[in-house]
Amino acid sequence: MKRAGDNDDPLAKLTPRTRLTVAGRDPFDHHGYVNTPVYHASTLLYPTAEDFLARRSRYKYGRRGTPTSEALEDALRQLEGESCAGVALLPSGLAAVSAALLAVLQAGDHLLMTDSVYEPTRVFCDKYLSRYGITTTYYDPLIGADIAGLLQPNTRAVFVESPGSLSFEIQDIPAISAAAHAHGALVLMDNTWATPLGFPALDRGVDLSIQAGTKYIGGHSDVMIGMVSAHAGIVRQLKEAVFTMGLCVGPDDMYLALRGLRTLSARLAVHEESGLAVARWLAARPEVLTVMHPALESDSGHALWKRDFSGACGLFAVVFKPVPDAAVHAFLNALTLFGIGASWGGYESLAIPFDCTKIRTATRWAPGGPTVRFHVGLEDIGDLIADLERGFAAFAAEPKA
Ligand SMILES: *Cc1c(COP(=O)(O)O)cnc(C)c1O
Repeated sequence: MKRAGDNDDPLAKLTPRTRLTVAGRDPFDHHGYVNTPVYHASTLLYPTAEDFLARRSRYKYGRRGTPTSEALEDALRQLEGESCAGVALLPSGLAAVSAALLAVLQAGDHLLMTDSVYEPTRVFCDKYLSRYGITTTYYDPLIGADIAGLLQPNTRAVFVESPGSLSFEIQDIPAISAAAHAHGALVLMDNTWATPLGFPALDRGVDLSIQAGTKYIGGHSDVMIGMVSAHAGIVRQLKEAVFTMGLCVGPDDMYLALRGLRTLSARLAVHEESGLAVARWLAARPEVLTVMHPALESDSGHALWKRDFSGACGLFAVVFKPVPDAAVHAFLNALTLFGIGASWGGYESLAIPFDCTKIRTATRWAPGGPTVRFHVGLEDIGDLIADLERGFAAFAAEPKA
């Protein structure tokens, strides 16, 4: 298929939603079957010794790309839009984060990292980047243009994640990108929450956009995969890092991700709508202090979200009024449709207790009560609310100290 960015790209005029149904497949290359087949491949044969020595072939080696990886990369490029020059596939979301950081940083560099970042990203910076002489400074996610004051002569990259996947702060990414670029630093973003459908990161000033495909792209809680999308100026450096480190993804996992992409827009629309309905219902409960969901008008990040995002998903958090943990645990334990488990983005609803106190160094976490993160899946809203009512009944039965 043609690539975004080609002047006569037939897909360029289509919306991302339509492109996701068309990109990365060419049925008449495969006997007319709709989907690109899964190539299980390592060795690639050449007809003659001369062909081998000259490496005369479209593909080189399983790890270097197959029709399966190309199909997924093409579709992801179409999802990102015209600003995307290429995509690297990684075996998990965390591998996508670490590969993107390793691709752009070297000994002596300084990294600015949002304090709201996914915890394993923080661990990678503190435990591993530090071993290679790369220093990390954490900053307040709400810093905006004032990030300029934290840029050091050796600051090579600014990492953003918006909203935070536990605390849901929306960052002013255009302002942060403008300051970083004026300084010659790159902007890396973990865009797992909104996906490029809700936040076209590369169009908003981000240089490397990272997603845990494990979440909404896979969409069925059955695959681990990650991806990094890049601007033209940085794509070669990204691809070289991934190739040099020997990182690649199994063909069945790539296929599951591509299959997930086909229905991403339809699923996300339901996650968003049901998530907002459940969030509004929770916000009206007497047990609830606040709901952290940037698509709610009452949220402190709503104005920025409205300015920069065109969609949300089903992930948000709730702050309960102060009660003993036992009451929150009774609430969670009584739920039957909301499973208790980490990760998110599948078709099923989830709820977990969390506390950011120990994973903050630049800001203080003081939400005012116990916190629970919800992932709203594809179940019927009425059934989910009946489940939550069961939870609140168990909550009420706990003695309040
Ligand atoms: C889950 C997650 C990751 C990591 O993805 P894995 O596939 O689990 O490694 C990275 N960033 C965010 C925001 C996530 O939610």
